[in-house]
Amino acid sequence: MVRELNLNDAVRLKKPHPCGGYEWEIVRVGADIGIRCLSCARRVLLSRSELERRLKAVQPADV
Ligand SMILES: [Zn+2]
Repeated sequence: MVRELNLNDAVRLKKPHPCGGYEWEIVRVGADIGIRCLSCARRVLLSRSELERRLKAVQPADV
């Protein structure tokens, strides 16, 4: 299953960031997906398949 991921979508991961945050925002879409932790603002780059493994839920950005 391929999930549609768009810039500014909010995503929730299965495991928290070391800072304790579960909520992330998509800041880059391409071969790799860039996400930003909403708790500490740190950015992480993940391959799409890696992100999909860790994803718990996607909340699309308001249009
Ligand atoms: Zn964090």
